[in-house]
Amino acid sequence: MYLCYIDESGTSDVPGNTSHFVLAGVSVPIWRWRAADQEISHILGRYGLRNEELHTAWLLRPYLEQRRIADFQQLSYVARRSAVERERNAHLLRLQQTNQRKTYRQIKKNCAHTHPYIHLTHQERKSLVGDVADCISNWGFARLFAECIDKIHFDSNRAGRTVDEQAFEQIVSRFEQYLANTDETGGQRNYGLLVHDNNETIARKHTEFMRQFHRQGTLWTRIERIIETPLFVDSSLTRMVQVADLCGYALRRYVENGEADLFRRIFARADRSRNVVVGVRHFTNLSCTCEICRAHRVS
Ligand SMILES: [Zn+2]
Repeated sequence: MYLCYIDESGTSDVPGNTSHFVLAGVSVPIWRWRAADQEISHILGRYGLRNEELHTAWLLRPYLEQRRIADFQQLSYVARRSAVERERNAHLLRLQQTNQRKTYRQIKKNCAHTHPYIHLTHQERKSLVGDVADCISNWGFARLFAECIDKIHFDSNRAGRTVDEQAFEQIVSRFEQYLANTDETGGQRNYGLLVHDNNETIARKHTEFMRQFHRQGTLWTRIERIIETPLFVDSSLTRMVQVADLCGYALRRYVENGEADLFRRIFARADRSRNVVVGVRHFTNLSCTCEICRAHRVS
């Protein structure tokens, strides 16, 4: 039995504020789950974050107030946290006093998201995310599935489906195919289950899509090995959904900005068949020569 943890990066709205929408899935066999989960928590523990969420985008943002603190790097974790909180509180108070309600709310929200990580310098946060990516890269038992849709190139009329639907259909089809390829000798079937971050809109959509795939198959395959509709969990508590979040982030930053460092580490886990990457696709124009497109083509 395999669990495939799914998360998205960017918005599926057209045009939205990102050029790409990425849906990423990380599959692990259930007998590897405990060790994999613990490995990630262990890395976080080295950075004083053992019980905190791994949220890649918030970790990698610049925290401007850290630059205003003299010798930030030389301070202890505790002193860094106090100094950042002092800066933040002063800033929020200024915004309240000058009646900038909208900015105040926005900054307050950002502060809450980044609060667990404020004792780490930008370099330390980058190396934390890099360490997790290296760890994933070495998981010989894990497979990465992803659909990276260039929305400028996507025509929902021609595709006959929405961005969301195409992305989900691709992940489901490839995971099903992977399960079929890993069937045990002697006819023993492998089964799979999708696990997804609990977002109400997406939960409803993906549940409906999955019911439909169970009835009619996808455009590519019948669904015989993936059971049930996706299970929805709280991503702030589920390490492996956070791993899928990192993979989605790395893929989107690569296809949008060419940032290759994190991407190369996690792309090592893309499902392959005879050296051709079949698990990850970049849906864009045919002349794209990015590493995903090159690896996806049969030469
Ligand atoms: Zn490409």
